[in-house]
Order: sequence, then structure tokens, then C-alpha cells
Amino acid sequence: MIIASAQNPAIKAIRALAEKKYRQETGLFVAEGEKVLARARSLGWVPETLVTIGATEPWGTARVLEVTPDVMAALSAQNNPPPLLAVFSQKWQDTAHARGLWLALEEVRDPGNLGTIIRTADAAGAAGVILAGQSCDPYGQECVRATMGSIFAMPLLRLPVTELIGLCRSWPGEIVGTHLLGAEDYRRVYRQPTLLVMGSEGRGLSPELAAACSLLVRIPMRDGIDSLNLAVASGLMLFEARRLTE
Ligand code: SAM
Repeated sequence: MIIASAQNPAIKAIRALAEKKYRQETGLFVAEGEKVLARARSLGWVPETLVTIGATEPWGTARVLEVTPDVMAALSAQNNPPPLLAVFSQKWQDTAHARGLWLALEEVRDPGNLGTIIRTADAAGAAGVILAGQSCDPYGQECVRATMGSIFAMPLLRLPVTELIGLCRSWPGEIVGTHLLGAEDYRRVYRQPTLLVMGSEGRGLSPELAAACSLLVRIPMRDGIDSLNLAVASGLMLFEARRLTE
């Protein structure tokens, strides 16, 4: 049966996942688009529900809902709704293993920034992303979309800032904080395991977290510039940290 009404209870339940409250209650999230879902599939994710326009290949144990283009448009966050959308269970890590390169973000607020950072961390081969304090939700539609499928690849960990400070104290390698007043240039050799720590868009790195870092680096800028966008600074740091490692 093809679902033709956006008032169908199963469709309404998926639409509700646009709200953080329902994502938190259910532990679910929505991702859409063939390329993104192909990445999810290649990484072994199985959706709880698959929504399609027209028939599709079976994918694990997913419940498949065939819908009209109008219903897909009601579910999709995109102007041109793709033919495939899926609902998945969120995955959160309990701990950060101290190997390779981890990126910690203090109170990131902008979902577009967070999605871009997760995508870039994936591209740079990072081991995972830590969200400290009051972070925006990586499983919100805007962030998921900005990750372009990397939401399925990057291990994610969330913890209070005090716990990130605790993790810094027990981290066996370098903890590199990024700060506008950092004493060192960011172009240097990075020793693995490395924990990169980025500050929030508005306030920057808190003094408590800055004090827990083993060094603070600065990306030199032309005079008169306030700061770089958080996602751009994260990208520069991630790729610099993988360029020369020891
Ligand atoms: N007003 C904030 C401040 O005073 O720190 C600006 C924060 S900036 C938009 C967000 C984060 O990006 C910073 O906390 C830092 O982690 C990183 N960042 C931005 N520009 C940087 C630079 N030139 N050098 C080092 N880190 C930078």
C-alpha cells in the first residue's frame, strides 16, 4: 500500500523527529538521500524504517514505507526531496580510546558548523569527535545533512566539560588547545595520540579547559581579523595534525 497522507501515524512519528525532544525520547534520527544512505549501508548501519518513492532493494530488517512524492516532501528537509529517506538509532560511544587523533569541541552551537566538522574529521582520518557541554544535537537534520554521510562513520562521544577536563588529565599524549592567544604556531609536528580541543563559536575556549591543555596553538591571521569560523579552524587543525606526525 502506498501512503498518500502526511497524517498517517507512521509518517507523523517520523516528522516529529525534526524536534530534538522526540529524538531524545526515541533515540532515533532521520537521514536522507541515496549517496548518504549508501554510505550508511556500506558501514553496516541498518535503518529502523526506510521510506521510499517506488520500490527499493531490501535492506536488512528495515520496515519499508512506500509513499507519494507529496508525503516524501513533507518528511524531507530538502527543497528537492530525494527518493529515499531512513530512520536510524543514534549511536554514542562511552569512552574515547587514546589512539590516533580525537577532536573535542566545547559547546558547539551551530548545527551547520558541527556537521561540517564531523565531515572534515572523517576526511582527515580522525578517530572520533567529542562534544563537551551544551552542544547542539549532531543528530538534528541540519547537522546530519551537513555531514554528507560522515555521521555514520565518526564515533561520537558527549560529556560535561568537567569530564573532558578529567579526560585531559588522564590523556597519555598531547592535548592541543586552539586559542587566539596561543603561544605556538599551529604549523608544527603533532605527536599521536593527539587530542585537539576547539572552543565555542561565541566564547572561545573556556579558561578551565585551556588550562587543562598541554599547549595552546594559534593560527596566524592578518591584523584586524577577529577569529576564524570554528569549522574552518577545525579543518586547518585536523589536516595539519595529520600532515606531520611523530
Ligand atoms: N570570540 C571567540 C574567542 O575569543 O575565542 C572566537 C571563537 S572562534 C569563532 C571559535 C574557535 O575556533 C576558537 O575557540 C578556537 O578554538 C578556533 N579558532 C578560531 N580562530 C582561531 C585562530 N586564529 N587560532 C586558533 N584557534 C582559532
